[in-house]
Amino acid sequence: IAKEQNDHSFVFYEDIAHQLATDNWDIAHELQSALGNNELTLHYQPIVDNRTGDMVRVEALARWPHPIRGLIPPSDFIPIAEQENLMDILSAYVIREACIQGKRWSDMDETSPKLKISVNLSKKQLAQRETAEMIETILIETGFAADLLEIEVTEEAFSEDLELVVASLHDLRNLGVRAWVDDFGKGYSSLAIIDLLPIHGIKLDRLFIQRLSYKNSSFSIIRHMINLANEQGWQVVGEGIEHEEEARLLIEAGCYLLQGYYFGKPMNASQITKELFTREETLRGRVRQRGY
Ligand code: C2E
Ligand code: MG
Ligand code: MG
Ligand code: MG
Repeated sequence: IAKEQNDHSFVFYEDIAHQLATDNWDIAHELQSALGNNELTLHYQPIVDNRTGDMVRVEALARWPHPIRGLIPPSDFIPIAEQENLMDILSAYVIREACIQGKRWSDMDETSPKLKISVNLSKKQLAQRETAEMIETILIETGFAADLLEIEVTEEAFSEDLELVVASLHDLRNLGVRAWVDDFGKGYSSLAIIDLLPIHGIKLDRLFIQRLSYKNSSFSIIRHMINLANEQGWQVVGEGIEHEEEARLLIEAGCYLLQGYYFGKPMNASQITKELFTREETLRGRVRQRGY
């Protein structure tokens, strides 16, 4: 039956952009069944602590392996999920998968601190108190430790009902789940609002990191953002680091939690397991060898 369906939908997926512009119902429908059939997978991208060279957390990133279109990136299906009210199902799916895998890693790994997992929430979800309840239920079901689970939301989330957003962040904090502001600096939230949020840290958008190497003023902006974060008691992750020079400049500016292709691309769970248990592994080597 699946095969028939796929052959049938070939035309639709030849041009996803065109499909998007005309009618997304079929994609939404397929996404919904993919979720129901456990067809979505998660890739995990390492986040490295330069002070120790350890992979301290991974970010879970959703992938949709489609039999005809190949691996569909989240930029193609998250907007559809948002539009078609599938985001709650998708998030529950991603968080459950991440917690099941996280539990496996924490059971395997004797070392402490253990590997943390970050999942992305979509912009509307913090404005619903049910989201924190859903996360709590999944933590109980899977037995994954709440303090190893983290969530990421972009600044767009704060343009929703702020009182509800703050309440959800408090609910999550009470559970022990930490929250990060993703793509920090790229959105439009004012510092006055950010100041009200019970968050654990910020992730500096790749945009700033890219500019580091060729624009002098960027270094000073980044340093100010890092100082601001430090004064607020927030942690800072630098995102989208592709080159050694970018890593060097970020570290010089005071950011030591690093994520990007330079340190590791998003990979499947078993590749992460390998990284975790190969103590002489590349990530650690990469940081140490270069003497950062
Ligand atoms: P994000 O949360 O900011 O995730 C980082 C994105 O940057 C990922 O793209 C990652 O693969 C990419 N990236 C990491 N390092 C580098 C680098 O050095 N260079 C470049 N050019 N890119 C890098 P991805 O996996 O395609 O995800 C895109 C966005 O889709 C994510 O941005 C996130 O906002 C969203 N997303 C992914 N998975 C989920 C999910 O499960 N739920 C929700 N709500 N959103 C998700
Ligand atoms: Mg993210
Ligand atoms: Mg980001
Ligand atoms: Mg992003």
